[in-house]
Order: sequence, then structure tokens, then C-alpha cells
Amino acid sequence: MPRPWRAVLDEHTVTALRTAGEGASAQVEHVEATDAEGRFQRIRGDAYVPALGSVSPIFAAPLGIRLPIYPAKGYSVTLPVKDESRANQVSLTDDEFKLVYSRLGDRLRIAGTAELNGYDRDLNRVRCEAIVRRVEDVFPGAGEGSEAQFWTGLRPATPSNVPLIGATRVANLYLNTGHGTLGWTHACGSGKSIARIISGLKPEVEFSFSK
Ligand SMILES: Cc1cc2nc3c(=O)[nH]c(=O)nc-3n(C[C@H](O)[C@H](O)[C@H](O)COP(=O)(O)OP(=O)(O)OC[C@H]3O[C@@H](n4cnc5c(N)ncnc54)[C@H](O)[C@@H]3O)c2cc1C
Repeated sequence: MPRPWRAVLDEHTVTALRTAGEGASAQVEHVEATDAEGRFQRIRGDAYVPALGSVSPIFAAPLGIRLPIYPAKGYSVTLPVKDESRANQVSLTDDEFKLVYSRLGDRLRIAGTAELNGYDRDLNRVRCEAIVRRVEDVFPGAGEGSEAQFWTGLRPATPSNVPLIGATRVANLYLNTGHGTLGWTHACGSGKSIARIISGLKPEVEFSFSK
């Protein structure tokens, strides 16, 4: 009988993965975490999947697992639609500026660019303004640039943009990370595949899963 799902533990911060055993018999024994009030916890499971985005390598390294994942900062700009007739209706890719234009009802969202600058998530004003200018060039009068809102996020990028999914040499530790620019696109397929791998089943897609 499969065990029922445990409750999701929101607002917990993982501080370490602790292993027991050596070499081929090494296993993750528990995860150390703190809850929202800062209380220390040890959390145990049957299998462990560090899905920690660009910080995954920091948690894998002490276990002797080197993950080639690097934070690639991307920008997202959201502005109100000013003139419906001039705004895009469907998602468009601007290859020259590496931007994707999406329509979210009465807002335009433009996301893209890649900045390799460690874990820093600060907004670079020059980049923000360049994106707003580009939107005005491509769709003049479509959006209200003066009301633009800016955000940055770190993509967990691998050199090939191919994610790391599958088993590791630590028996109960699995990977589902490093999705780079396509984490949303690949989320469901990756999740289903790693669930099948952990369950001892073959994934349904032809892909070079980690072993
Ligand atoms: C501007 C921008 C635009 C994008 N556009 C697209 C797109 O159009 N299509 C697409 O497919 N993808 C897109 N992506 C990429 C996508 O967002 C990523 O690939 C995806 O978010 C990676 O998912 P993840 O869960 O592996 O990592 P993350 O989304 O980075 O999630 C990691 C999570 O781990 C948590 N965490 C970190 N450390 C700890 C800790 N110590 N304890 C507990 N939790 C922790 C973080 O808070 C975070 O919630 C875009 C990314 C950016 C930045």
C-alpha cells in the first residue's frame, strides 16, 4: 500500500542534507531545516529530491556531488496595456533581444535576457530601461512604460540547458533540477519522470536521465 502524502511544509528553509554510511552504502539520513519561527527540524523521508533551483549545487557539494548549475539572472517587465489595438495578443519571441512578449489580459509581460552575476538579484536600471525602450520600438504606444514594474529571477542554468533528472550515487538522493530557461515548460514531464524513477518504473520519454 502506498503511504499517504505528508503535509507540505511551507516556509521551511533547508539548511543541510545529512548522510549516513560510506561509499556505495551512503544514504541521505535526514534534511535539516528551520521553520518560519526559526525552529530547528530534522525531516526524514524515503527519497530526497533537492529541487532548489540555482542553489541546488550548494547542497549537493558536501555529499560529493558536483552539479554544473549556475544562476543566470533574467528580467521580467510588466506594464499596463495603453492601447489595445497596438498590443500583441499572442506570445511572441524577439530573437534579436532575447525577449518573450506575453499578453496577460490588460497587462503586457516581457521577460528574458541573461546576466551571469552570481546570486545577486538586484535590478540593473540600464537593463530595465532598455527593455521598456524595446517594447516601445516593437509595439509603439501599446504599453504604459512609465508604470512598468520590474522583477528579476535566477534560472538554474546548465552549460547545455539540459536539466539534471534522475538518480545519484547516493542511493536515496535524486535530482530534478537545472532546467535553465525552460523550467515551466518542462515541469510536468520532469516531475512525472522523476516520480516514475523513484518508484522503480521506466520514464516514458527517451532522455539521458542521471544514473
Ligand atoms: C525572467 C524569467 C523568465 C522565464 N520564463 C520562462 C518561460 O517562459 N518558460 C519556461 O519554461 N521557463 C521560464 N523561466 C525559467 C523557469 O522560471 C525556471 O527554469 C524554473 O523556475 C526552475 O524551477 P526550479 O523549481 O528548478 O527552481 P526555482 O524556480 O528557482 O525554485 C527553487 C525554489 O527553491 C527554494 N529554495 C532555495 N533555497 C532553499 C532552501 N535553502 N530551503 C528551502 N527552499 C529553498 C526557492 O525559494 C525556490 O522557491 C524563466 C525564468 C526567468 C528568471
